Amino acid sequence: MNIHIPTPLRPYADKQAVVHVSAKTVADALAALTSQFPELRKHLYSDEGKLRSFVNVYLNDEDIRYLDKKENAPVKESDSLSIIPSIAGGAPVAEAAASSAALTPEEMGRYSRHLILPEVGEEGQLKLKAARVLCIGAGGLGAPLTMYLAAAGVGTLGIVDFDVVEASNLHRQVIHGTSDVGRAKLDSAEDSLKAINPNVKIVKFPMRLSSENALSIFRDFDIVADGTDNFPTRYLVNDACVLSSKPNVYASIFRFEGQASVFATETGPCYRCLYPEPPPPGLVPSCAEGGVLGILPGMLGIIQATEVIKLILGQGEPLVGRLLLVDTLAMRFRELKLHKNPDCPVCGTHPTATKLIDYEQFCGLPPKSAEPATVVNGIAQMQPTELKRRMDAGDKLFVLDVREPYEFAIAQIGGHLIPLNDLPRRMGELNANREIVVHCKVGGRSQKAAEFLAQNGFKHIYNLAGGITAWSEKVDPLVPKY
Ligand SMILES: [Zn+2]
Repeated sequence: MNIHIPTPLRPYADKQAVVHVSAKTVADALAALTSQFPELRKHLYSDEGKLRSFVNVYLNDEDIRYLDKKENAPVKESDSLSIIPSIAGGAPVAEAAASSAALTPEEMGRYSRHLILPEVGEEGQLKLKAARVLCIGAGGLGAPLTMYLAAAGVGTLGIVDFDVVEASNLHRQVIHGTSDVGRAKLDSAEDSLKAINPNVKIVKFPMRLSSENALSIFRDFDIVADGTDNFPTRYLVNDACVLSSKPNVYASIFRFEGQASVFATETGPCYRCLYPEPPPPGLVPSCAEGGVLGILPGMLGIIQATEVIKLILGQGEPLVGRLLLVDTLAMRFRELKLHKNPDCPVCGTHPTATKLIDYEQFCGLPPKSAEPATVVNGIAQMQPTELKRRMDAGDKLFVLDVREPYEFAIAQIGGHLIPLNDLPRRMGELNANREIVVHCKVGGRSQKAAEFLAQNGFKHIYNLAGGITAWSEKVDPLVPKY
């Protein structure tokens, strides 16, 4: 019969993907395999001679643990055995590589408080050293996540980010400092991480994660940690993790609340089991629109780092099948059970999503184009420079500001303030026949307001593209950005 050897174990089986053995039972077959390749033995079996917890053996398509006779189940020549290392119980790539590495005296000193923990020890520290973790984003979540993973001795950290450090990032993205404003986040993050632990190899991906590049970027990593703040990328990360069988250590944050889980393990649910479809655009504001308490991504990023380290070590109980909810105002942690959905379009029994798609479109966002959109959902988009030109020309435009009063107090451009939620009640304050330019902070809420007004008979509505933030950048830098 044939035994399929998974990639991480092939170095110990003469690099073969399939090994042929003659056997009467599953146990016979494994014994024949390990006598042919003695090095495999310690990877498959514990010192007590038991199959390691992170190794699953399948006879054809059935896990042998669910067979009546388990390891003693009879086999035929036409059967095949597959060895499937379970990612949820430990990172097998790290395990395999860890066995051939050693800690230097400098590392022994650096990690001494880990080495004296029985759950980590030298074996665990070597697993961390061999592990390759990919972090999507070097922002609020990515900052504590990468800093703690680097400090803990994770050997290879990949980071995907194309952003530049802005002053408004500094209240939460503690990996960047004041002097880093204007630098690429990747470069600033690399400097900080190298300062924490020069042993860590940093792999920088200065690009936007996309359907085109995700699978090839993911290929060289064992675990993916999602620190993104937008739905298209979150669905992309999830689907790419499921398709490439990498656990997705997830967290997200909003204002004072956060959530975390571990998705896309072999047995657990994925993000789409929880949320098969994204919310319609505009329904859930981003951090840029809704604000975020500075320490919140710190807490959630550290929860992510903890889960990553547990997966690498194969210790504890990962957040698989559980959604952790963190409410920092009440300082309450709750937990919801998550089930793997057999009808899930990506990880279900009959998946319909078998390759990566256009996630911008999936999330209902207009396609990206080089030219700024001039009309979105029937609403004309006005550039800040155009509004300035028309104001200067004396045009009688009415500027409607749909932000909150506390935002208005920080910065304003002379608009009439009606917060978005008050608009239905206070619509009477507006003249339906006038040209109205609606603005908010970055353009999301004002687009909703403009659509609402258009549905209510307002004829000449514009949305200020990019909001007051774009106004500050393109027209008047004295208007504070917040
Ligand atoms: Zn799923």
